[in-house]
Formats: sequence, structure tokens, C-alpha cells
Amino acid sequence: MNTNSLTKLFNPTDDHAALREMVRSFTEREVEPQALDTIEVKHSINDGLGILGLTAPDEFGGTGLPDATAVSIVHEELSYSDPALCLSYLAHSILLVNNLAVNANDEQLALFMPGICDGSKIGGMCMSEPNAGTDVLGMKSNAVYDSARDGFILNGTKMWITNGTLTGKETGDLFLVYARTGPRRGQILLSLWWRKAWRDKLGMRASPTAELVFENVFLPAKTHVVGDVNGATLCMMRNLEIERVALAAMAVGIARRSLDEMIAYASNRPALARIQKHISESYAEYMAGKCYLYAIANGLDLSTYGNGLDADGVKLYCATMAKNVADRAIQVMGGYGYCGEYTVERLWRDAKLLEIGGGTNESHHKNMARDLHKLDGNKLE
Ligand SMILES: Cc1cc2nc3c(=O)[nH]c(=O)nc-3n(C[C@H](O)[C@H](O)[C@H](O)COP(=O)(O)OP(=O)(O)OC[C@H]3O[C@@H](n4cnc5c(N)ncnc54)[C@H](O)[C@@H]3O)c2cc1C
Repeated sequence: MNTNSLTKLFNPTDDHAALREMVRSFTEREVEPQALDTIEVKHSINDGLGILGLTAPDEFGGTGLPDATAVSIVHEELSYSDPALCLSYLAHSILLVNNLAVNANDEQLALFMPGICDGSKIGGMCMSEPNAGTDVLGMKSNAVYDSARDGFILNGTKMWITNGTLTGKETGDLFLVYARTGPRRGQILLSLWWRKAWRDKLGMRASPTAELVFENVFLPAKTHVVGDVNGATLCMMRNLEIERVALAAMAVGIARRSLDEMIAYASNRPALARIQKHISESYAEYMAGKCYLYAIANGLDLSTYGNGLDADGVKLYCATMAKNVADRAIQVMGGYGYCGEYTVERLWRDAKLLEIGGGTNESHHKNMARDLHKLDGNKLE
């Protein structure tokens, strides 16, 4: 088979191929040796690669690659070794940095961007609440305008916030927080305090998760309100699209590693029929997911909105694909697969998060069915 068309799909330009090679060798050298350490919080990516601000403009300290393919390449390669580290990277570089890069004004970019691009500040994004996850627009956190001080007073609780704490002792540095400004929504930026760190998670254990509580936090309107007041739903939806593509890329990285482990194990074993079936089905599903991912990423413009159907679709497919491939890898490797030293049990636990975070499978079903009903003439091309 001529694999040239696949190479072009996965690395459309020489720059993409070089980026993949750079992140792959960093991952082999720096990430893989520490990936078995699932308790320590890791932010080793800070200065090793210089891609914390991957999609941010270079004049504000970013890498200047506002490119969904580059985002996918980085997330696939990091997740090959350590999906939890990659989840923390995603929360910082996509949920915070990219969201800010797309929606903030130049003054805010100059104020906040250099620190989050050079890694001296690490943060994330606060959308979910104790009773508003899938139904995110039902959020209760509120920001009330104080005209005397020209700012907003923020109150509320945000749940499951990646990088909400960094070490288990101290809060992350900077967060984009969504809050109601009345019947509609505003988007607000600030530093804050953390209350509770969640430690006993099924997977993604090296990615810190916390509950954050805001009590009468003052936010100067000039510097700490991002985009238009009451216009944040659009910012949220636009950022969710690239988040879902990045999560799908993480799934592809998990599946590729699980396949490599299965193949290496099976090459030392008699070719049992069950192993052949597991390996071949996993490969076909991995390739289907990877082709879907890069076909969508290569056409995604980060500054636009309206790619929801396939951002949902590729995450829906790839998340379950990765979990199934990791599951088969455990099955192929038997008792070894079940033990931590052989990596695939960690990948299986990490893959489960991808069916929940950034939108549950059921939320993708709901969104996709709605979007498909709106198709022109009810026909696919
Ligand atoms: C490790 C981790 C990291 C996270 N990081 C972040 C972060 O950095 N920032 C952030 O804002 N959030 C974060 N989240 C939150 C994540 O996005 C939510 O967990 C997710 O959106 C689901 O919301 P929920 O947990 O409240 O579940 P719920 O919305 O309560 O859902 C529970 C179940 O009900 C189903 N359900 C709910 N409503 C419907 C419906 N209308 N139709 C059909 N089924 C429905 C769901 O699919 C699910 O199966 C993180 C979560 C985890 C676990």
C-alpha cells in the first residue's frame, strides 16, 4: 500500500512532521521515564518543550501555531506515554491559553499571556459545577456588577477543575471562570483559592483535580473580564470544539501505545487466534479514529465556531475506541496486562475519563442528533 496519503493526512506539512518528531523524542526522553509515578503532580513540560502557549501569538510569548493539527499532534504524542500529564497540559494550553488567545484584548494578552506561556504560571478553566456538568448553562456561579468600583463580584463553586491545585497544597495560578451575570452569561478571568483536591480518582491520577470556591471575589472590569459581558456562551462553545478534538487526539495516543504493547507481547507468544483478533480489530479501529481525527483537525479554524458535529463525533468515537483497545491489550497480556508495570492498565483507567471529561458520551449523542436533524435536506454528502 502507498502510505503517502496517510503520512500527508497525519503530518500535512514538514513543520507538522518536525513538531511530531520533536514532541515524540521529548516524550521518550522526559515523559516516559516518569510516567509510572502516578502520585506526584508533574509539570515537567514547563520548559522542556516551550509549547505551553502552542496556539498563542508569538508577540505575547506563545509559539504562534493557531492550528488544530499541531494541537492534535502534541496531544497524541504526549498521551502515548502519559495521558494524565497531557490532561494537565490540555487544561493549561487549550482551556486557558487558547481560550484567552482567541477572546482576550491586546491589553489582557500583554498582561497575562507571557506568564502562562513561559510556565511561571499554571492554570486552567472553570466551567463545571456540582450540579451543572452536562447541563453547563444551568450554572449557578454569578458575577454581579459593582458600578462604584467598576468591577464584578464573583460568588460560586466550580467542580472537577484540572490544575485547580498544582501540588495538593497550593492553588493553580490563573483561571478562566464562567459565571452568570443575570439571566445570561459572562466570561471572567482571575486568580483564586482552592478548597478540595480529589485524590482517589480511577485514572488520570497525576493530573490534579480540585473544587474551587469563590466568595465575594472582586474582578476589575477593565482587566479581568474577557470578551463581551453576556457574550461568553460563544467563547465556551468555540473552545469546547478544540478541547474535544484534543481529547480525541489523547485517545489516539492511548490506542497507539496499547497496540504497540499488545504487538510486542504477542510477538513472543504463540499466535493464538484470540490474540490475532484483538490486535487486528484494535488496529482497524485505531486507524479509523486517527483518520477521522486528522481529517477534522486539518480543516478546523480555531477562530471560528460551528464545527460541533464532528468535534463531538470524533471524541465520541475515539474515546470509546481507546478504552476498548486498552481493554483488549490487558486481555492479550493476561496477568501482566493487569499489573501497573506493563502500562496498559493505566492507559485503560486514563481512557475512561475521555468518555466523561469535555462532555460525556451522552452529551455528544444529544448534540449530534440535534445537529444531524438540522442537515440540509436531511442528507449527508
Ligand atoms: C478528571 C476530570 C477533570 C475535569 N476537568 C475539568 C476542568 O478542568 N474544567 C471543567 O470545567 N470541568 C472539568 N471536568 C468536569 C467534566 O467536564 C464533567 O465531569 C462532565 O462534563 C460531566 O458532568 P458531571 O460530572 O456533572 O456529570 P452529569 O452531568 O451529572 O452527568 C451524569 C450522567 O448523566 C448523564 N446526563 C446528564 N444530563 C444528560 C442529558 N441531558 N441527556 C442524557 N444524559 C445526560 C451524563 O451523560 C452522565 O452519564 C473534569 C472532570 C473530571 C472527571
